[in-house]
Amino acid sequence: MLRKKTNGVARRPQRTSILSEVTNASVDRRAFLRGSGLAIGGLAAVAATGGTVTQATAATAASGDVKRVKSVCTHCSVGCTVEAEVQGGVWIGQEPGWDSPFNLGAHCAKGASVREHAHGERRLKYPMKKVGGEWQRISWEQAIDEIGDQMLSIRDSSGPDSVYWLGSAKHSNEQAYLFRKFAAYWGTNNVDHQARICHSTTVAGVANTWGYGAMTNSYNDIHKSRAIFIIGGNPAEAHPVSLQHVLKAKEQNNAPLIVCDPRFTRTAAHADEYVRFRPGSDVALVWGLLWHIFENGWEDREFIRSRVWGMDEIRTEVANWTPDEVERVTGVPGSQLERVARTLANNRPGTVIWCMGGTQHTNGNNNTRAYCILQLALGNMGTAGGGTNIFRGHDNVQGATDLGVLADTLPGYYGLTAGSWAHWARVWEEDLDWLKGRFATMQGKDGKDKAMMNLTGIPVSRWIDGVLEAKENLEQPDNTRAMVFWGHAPNSQTRMKEMKTAMEKLDLLVVVDPYPTVSAILHDRTDNTYLLPASTQFETYGSVTASNRSIQWREKVVDPLFESLPDHIIMHKFATKFGFADRMFRNIEVNGEEPLVEDLTREFNRGMWTVGYTGQSPERLKMHMENQHTFDRTTLRANGGPADGDYYGMPWPCWGTPEMNHPGSANLYDTSLPVAKGGLPFRARYGVERNGENLLAEGSYTVGSEIEDGYPEFTMQMLIDLGWDSDLTPYERRMIEYVAGYIDQRPETNTDLGEQSQSGPYPSDFADKIGGVNWKTDLSGGIQRVAIAHGCAPYGNAKARCVVWTFPDPVPVHREPLYTNRRDLVEDYPTYEDKTFWRVPTMYASIQKNDFSKDYPIILTSGRLVEYEGGGDETRSNPWLAELQQNMFVEINPRDANNIGVRDGADVWVEGPEGGKVKVMAMVTPRVGEGVAFMPFHFGGHFEGEDLRSKYPDGADPIVLGESTNTAQTYGYDSVTQMQETK
Ligand code: SF4
Repeated sequence: MLRKKTNGVARRPQRTSILSEVTNASVDRRAFLRGSGLAIGGLAAVAATGGTVTQATAATAASGDVKRVKSVCTHCSVGCTVEAEVQGGVWIGQEPGWDSPFNLGAHCAKGASVREHAHGERRLKYPMKKVGGEWQRISWEQAIDEIGDQMLSIRDSSGPDSVYWLGSAKHSNEQAYLFRKFAAYWGTNNVDHQARICHSTTVAGVANTWGYGAMTNSYNDIHKSRAIFIIGGNPAEAHPVSLQHVLKAKEQNNAPLIVCDPRFTRTAAHADEYVRFRPGSDVALVWGLLWHIFENGWEDREFIRSRVWGMDEIRTEVANWTPDEVERVTGVPGSQLERVARTLANNRPGTVIWCMGGTQHTNGNNNTRAYCILQLALGNMGTAGGGTNIFRGHDNVQGATDLGVLADTLPGYYGLTAGSWAHWARVWEEDLDWLKGRFATMQGKDGKDKAMMNLTGIPVSRWIDGVLEAKENLEQPDNTRAMVFWGHAPNSQTRMKEMKTAMEKLDLLVVVDPYPTVSAILHDRTDNTYLLPASTQFETYGSVTASNRSIQWREKVVDPLFESLPDHIIMHKFATKFGFADRMFRNIEVNGEEPLVEDLTREFNRGMWTVGYTGQSPERLKMHMENQHTFDRTTLRANGGPADGDYYGMPWPCWGTPEMNHPGSANLYDTSLPVAKGGLPFRARYGVERNGENLLAEGSYTVGSEIEDGYPEFTMQMLIDLGWDSDLTPYERRMIEYVAGYIDQRPETNTDLGEQSQSGPYPSDFADKIGGVNWKTDLSGGIQRVAIAHGCAPYGNAKARCVVWTFPDPVPVHREPLYTNRRDLVEDYPTYEDKTFWRVPTMYASIQKNDFSKDYPIILTSGRLVEYEGGGDETRSNPWLAELQQNMFVEINPRDANNIGVRDGADVWVEGPEGGKVKVMAMVTPRVGEGVAFMPFHFGGHFEGEDLRSKYPDGADPIVLGESTNTAQTYGYDSVTQMQETK
């Protein structure tokens, strides 16, 4: 089954300079591929670092009429352009995009082999179902009919919440949007996706600090950083091409690279300063840095005065974190942290980068806020070279989050309040009462009926509990009885032993994916289990959002292979089966069964005002892809050409309508630019005053603002009060009146409204309603347009806040993990009390009160490998990648290994305190410190020592199988977002 590889890739000593090998000469495709697979972290080319790699000149694999098609790699959030060579409808070759400002002709091993992902022999080729324990081929019609009938029956007996629609970071933006809309039409908020378990704590923490929960700058902007601080991230393996941007700053600016991680990663190998700290002690580490910063007066006092609220409360908490206490909790000597703090203070602006090492903890939201506060104290926000560059994971996890494939929001982070539903009902031109009727109601503990429509659903991290928890303990009418895994690898989630039980208890299990995934084989189900073949993103087209918020347009490379179908067609099939297709697609052209992708973009353009997904029309997005070469590789701004002045991919917010031609916002919260050119202050999101203190900015505003101070978010009333409402066009005013309910007839964009355009005076009962229409609900975009014309940000101008009074820990504090082996710290830094939230009971103290440290003294952490992605089903099915990494393994420190008698290369059992255990190969290495073990999370197909290969449908088993680290990983969830605790 496995092929011989070139000598032990995983253990080969690291080469320190791929640069030196590839900068001497141009490389052909074969050398390029080889280099990309074997280079440090898979970094393949170095154009941005000053190398001399030139475009491969090797002849294409075939002569004749070869079409070049641009798509975007599907394996991480960097967004590298893939140029596919297609002949006669067959994908025959590929090159990295040389014009793309993101990858500049580079690919990592995964990107360089995506053709195999689409053409993969081991894909799921046709719909299948299990009958008496055997896989049988069925037709799409039979599949949709049988699944649909069972779902409708469950809906009748248990309500719509008993069907869980688990979506994907692999959807395009259009598919993600449609998926959330689909769940709304089905009548449930039990819809979520992988972002829950990768960056939900980032989104919550960052959005609650300064407005938006996303990367503030970009990979390219790191070129301008004077210092780079990476904590809990390993981009050399997880985001390989991003490293060329990091290394450019390191080499060109002499920017010190500081890497904080419990494990000496391939990224750490590039660091000027490596800080090894105890897993789960991030807050203590950051407060340890701030202790030195405050002690020495290195903070940016003017920035804090004018743009930050609550830093004094942080000072009070930080005062407790003396160097001795920090060393006790983190293991890092005070002298090292003083040196790091001094380096950050002396090299501004610096950027802070984090990934899942910081997010996946029971207090993950505290970690993400602590990182933000570090940047606020240093005055590193809102400036090129600074910011929080939060590297997202999957190719469209940012977009799927923005488009609301989440249990707690509608598209655009609109939440689940009545006002949010009313907004989207208007966008969809749907009868709000009909939508309400799709959802269940439930009697609350107070005896009053609660509309499930307004309650957060069960997050993906807890779907198991939706099935297994006693019904009376759930805050929904009945248990989860049907699960749809649509582009989701279950082995990326913890508690896999319980997951197996949950899968077996379900009435119905449906997998929609290009590959069968571990969902097909983990359990011992014999019937009512379906596999539906989805197409890859190379077999369809649409937009995708990179980590930096830039939106790119993929072209279709080939038609769907085998009997696979793109996600949006499958959604249309289900909508038809359930009888709401006509309503759901009333403003979307449907050709045969395929909804027109551009119409989907246009529909979300009409509703996503909150985050500025409104200006990026399909036409503008396609124009950017065609003119990639015109964009600056550092600023991302087009220099001449058709996109002149735009930022590449119009990173959101791209305000107003497409006709407004807003360029996008490359670096968030940058007041040195007018809002019309991408500048922004911090968002006014939490009111204007707190405990008598002003939450709005003081004396800080964007260039050209006519309000030269802080101001709240814009409403129609504010325009009236400022006398700016006269700038509204007649259409804009009529639309505002329509949104307020003053007129029934929805105005058409180009209608000559003549006399009707005259405003008020409105009857008193309407004056408030019209005044209350705001920049988020105005469907015309007029309020945004007028605010920006006066130099103001539609969302207001406030201070960032260091204290989130609505969170369990308003000031971020250190809390020991649930299964901590440092029992001496539990009394000082206990976890939370047990509580029920997101519909499920959640344990904290009831676990931590038990001492597991004697039997389980080693901390298990997990992470990525360069060769694989996510649950790994696609990449482990790809022969190019499978050859490079054939064995699941555990890294263990030599001292621990010697103490427990483990030899390098031996098979060992790794067991967690909840009883899950995995049989893997030992890699004895000082990469991990004493007391810490590491396993990659991409493997699946083995379970507690058993090889499950025979359970896959014939020919659809991945080449490489292995144990899932998550079989041994344990319970534990973030106190705000239900992020799992795997680090
Ligand atoms: Fe680029 Fe990421 Fe794809 Fe590698 S996996 S080619 S870094 S997008």
